[in-house]
Amino acid sequence: MKIRVLAFLGAAFLLLLGPAGGASAADKVKAVASFSILGDMVRAVGGDRVEVVTLVGPDGDAHVFSPTPADAKTLAAAQIFFVNGLGFEGWMERLEKSSGFKGKAVVASTGVKPLTMKEEEGHHHGEEVEHDHDEHATVGHDEDKVTDPHAWQDLANARIYVANIRDGLIAADPAGKAIYEANADKYLEAIGQEEKAVKAAIATLPPERRKIITSHDAFGYFAAAYGLEIIAPEGVSTESEASAQDVAKIIRQIKEENIPAVFLENVTDHRLLDQIARETGAKIGGTLYSDALSRPDGPAPSYLDMFRHNVGALTSALSS
Ligand code: ZN
Repeated sequence: MKIRVLAFLGAAFLLLLGPAGGASAADKVKAVASFSILGDMVRAVGGDRVEVVTLVGPDGDAHVFSPTPADAKTLAAAQIFFVNGLGFEGWMERLEKSSGFKGKAVVASTGVKPLTMKEEEGHHHGEEVEHDHDEHATVGHDEDKVTDPHAWQDLANARIYVANIRDGLIAADPAGKAIYEANADKYLEAIGQEEKAVKAAIATLPPERRKIITSHDAFGYFAAAYGLEIIAPEGVSTESEASAQDVAKIIRQIKEENIPAVFLENVTDHRLLDQIARETGAKIGGTLYSDALSRPDGPAPSYLDMFRHNVGALTSALSS
């Protein structure tokens, strides 16, 4: 009896491992993505052929990440490394060097038209922002600009990311070309659908209510693409903190311009925005997912879910 049960279990196990299962883990292309949003895009394009490890996981802040020796080991074993670029991952070059990574590095934002911010437009605090190229922009002079790395918050830019991911995977694994192309086409179709939905949802909002406060300036591309005004006390990186003067200025602005809602972010501390909401009477409109996805059981487990969640939160707080 016992033997028969074991034999049955063995057969079931073999069935699970059978040809329908596709490539085994050992055969898969090993990819590393710097953060969860990019990791999800790589999974969508790579499908079953690619095993994706994400360095900065759900709800994590990639601006201030410190890679561990285990991360270096993970990267060393990878064939391909996807990063956002535009100065988002200030820790990337050192990690690449220290890990001895020999694979292909793909900057997913290559070809995106970067948004820059002048000091007067944003709310920066003399922090130095590192760029991919050799120049450093120190905020504090009129002509100085910082590059905004959050290009994924415009779905039109996601098309560029997807094309770069597809081409990177094809270069690393030419045998998978047809699969990567088909997966990318399917994903681009879904991105196009979501883009229509976002535009339609924002169009329902009264123009005078399309103004919000977030803690760091992660939605510049979103604002430019979909017609929203976003004010953030913290600038384009979470590394800088808002000064008391910045906070006082924002509180004045909320009152003068009747800004209806303040939004928390999944990657930043809530205390400052709680204080701003308290002092102005603006309501907390919910939590926006800016630089990271939620955990699988949360409201934004994928890149497209993140847009659905964020736009849902914006429209429910801002519709009159
Ligand atoms: Zn950010």
